[in-house]
Amino acid sequence: MSRRVTPRTDTIQDIDTMIGETATTNLSPTFKARLLEYDDRWGYFEVTKNHSKRKGLNWGKYNDSAGQIMEIPTQMLRSLTWLTIHDKVSDWMDALGLSEWTITTEAIDEKSVVYEEGVPDSDQYFVGVQIDKDKMKACIYHDRPLTDEYIVHELLHVKHSEWSEDQVNAETEKLLR
Ligand SMILES: [Zn+2]
Repeated sequence: MSRRVTPRTDTIQDIDTMIGETATTNLSPTFKARLLEYDDRWGYFEVTKNHSKRKGLNWGKYNDSAGQIMEIPTQMLRSLTWLTIHDKVSDWMDALGLSEWTITTEAIDEKSVVYEEGVPDSDQYFVGVQIDKDKMKACIYHDRPLTDEYIVHELLHVKHSEWSEDQVNAETEKLLR
């Protein structure tokens, strides 16, 4: 039914599975880009912002280029470093000062959540977090791919459990700007 997300995949077999995923490129460790599509010759990437707050590098160096499209030869796609959910969650845990926590993610079957009648199709998805404050553990459950936006949103619930949904939404927007 539900399956645990493995923290790391070492080889990616099929390029189709990379569409929508983010890679770092060999240009610079601070550079991140998301694969939009590919053809026989080129993979087309959109440059994305790097929000890491880790010490040592100017992580936001390329953030002004966010949204720009760049091409990387299709034959090179498999050798790029693709960021896993685990990479993304731990980056945001660092950025939000949650490094002491143990935070896991779990993909759930979309059919396992029942929605009330009248809920529009576009709202029929589930992303939520279960928090154990005493043990400093949390698990993000999701039935669609976890984007930066979902990750930040759920981690803010962990960090500020007293915040309202509106506060979390506003801060998420601010952090992703
Ligand atoms: Zn929420």
